[in-house]
Amino acid sequence: MAATQLRVAPPPRLLQPLAVPQRLLLGPGPSNAPPRVLAAATHQLLGHMHPEMLQIMDEVKAGIQYAFQTRNALSLAVSGTGHCAMEAALFNVAEPSDSVLVGINGIWGERAADVAARLGVRVRVPGPSPAPRALALSVQGLVRHKPTVLFLAHGESSTGVLQPLEGLGELCHRHGCLLLVDSVASLGGAPILMDQQEIDILYSGPQKVLGAPPGSAPISFSERAREKMLRRKTKPPSFYLDMLCLGSYWGCDGPSRMYHHTAPIQSLYCLREGLAMLAEQGLEKSWVRHRANCVSLCQGLQELGLELFVKEEKARLPTVTTVKVPEDCDWKEIVTYVMDKYSIEIVGGLGPTAGKVFRIGLMGYNSTAANVDRVLQALRDALQHCHRSKL
Ligand code: PMP
Repeated sequence: MAATQLRVAPPPRLLQPLAVPQRLLLGPGPSNAPPRVLAAATHQLLGHMHPEMLQIMDEVKAGIQYAFQTRNALSLAVSGTGHCAMEAALFNVAEPSDSVLVGINGIWGERAADVAARLGVRVRVPGPSPAPRALALSVQGLVRHKPTVLFLAHGESSTGVLQPLEGLGELCHRHGCLLLVDSVASLGGAPILMDQQEIDILYSGPQKVLGAPPGSAPISFSERAREKMLRRKTKPPSFYLDMLCLGSYWGCDGPSRMYHHTAPIQSLYCLREGLAMLAEQGLEKSWVRHRANCVSLCQGLQELGLELFVKEEKARLPTVTTVKVPEDCDWKEIVTYVMDKYSIEIVGGLGPTAGKVFRIGLMGYNSTAANVDRVLQALRDALQHCHRSKL
């Protein structure tokens, strides 16, 4: 008999200690987690139905209601990343008989259109507008296409555009449509007021301003959106993300809870701490801090002779700044130099901005005046290096 039945040896690299370098993450996310959030992950696991765990979930829920500025009972964190929340949002409220109007201001609108199309939902796009300007959504779009859902990305991290939302919720409701907003890159960095702006479905991600690890994504549904889900003719195509079942697990319908799946326990501890830090600072102060650091970053970039991608100051996303790659520079060379010499992550463009811009994120714990100086210093050096190497 063979000494062992095993045909696959223990992987030698796995037998080495875990190696994670120190980096300053100033890309469009993830951003660095504050020590308090990291410390939360070192707590012992709890059973997913233990009263203490349910209590932590309630605290997460209350934190989401604060961050979103909503009183919606159906507010919780889905077990997954921002994409998971996007899919959950779309397929819980949209059935094949529905149509979704998608405002496209960059890759996240394109992604939502892709997700909706995979659900067999009719997707309408109000004319191509990948330009870095605030999307001009007119009443005509709603009248012409008669969508049941309008999707918008509040913070388009691929182009660095902030989508104004004023009046859109009311407009949608006048036309029998639900307003669905992605705030993965903007929550906590730019004002968003779910109830006052009449947003029906809002989701975000933990790894940006909240400074928590990916894996639990906040999401909330208005009463209007919940009623639409209750009227569904078909079941949502995923059990895992069926919002009404999840609502029961999260205690959104009352005190009795039904096991649905094992929540990512450590990820929820961290999200709780990220939300607590936002609540302690206060949303308004957080918005002001992000805007102020973005303004001084933009000034510094222009002083370096760089051109901002989003011309109109008001249309700039305070969390992610896009700056044009100078014609005589290779963007990859700059990004690599900044990483190799300074251990700072900045990244290139994505989707419509690929090869055209650098994206610099200042989010949550990373949105500080000291980080503005650090990234400007690193970029100055990288640009000089790039010019020197051309001589
Ligand atoms: N929407 C926006 C605006 C984003 O910036 C991102 C992540 N960069 C996502 C959605 C997707 O989130 P995730 O990578 O966590 O799935």
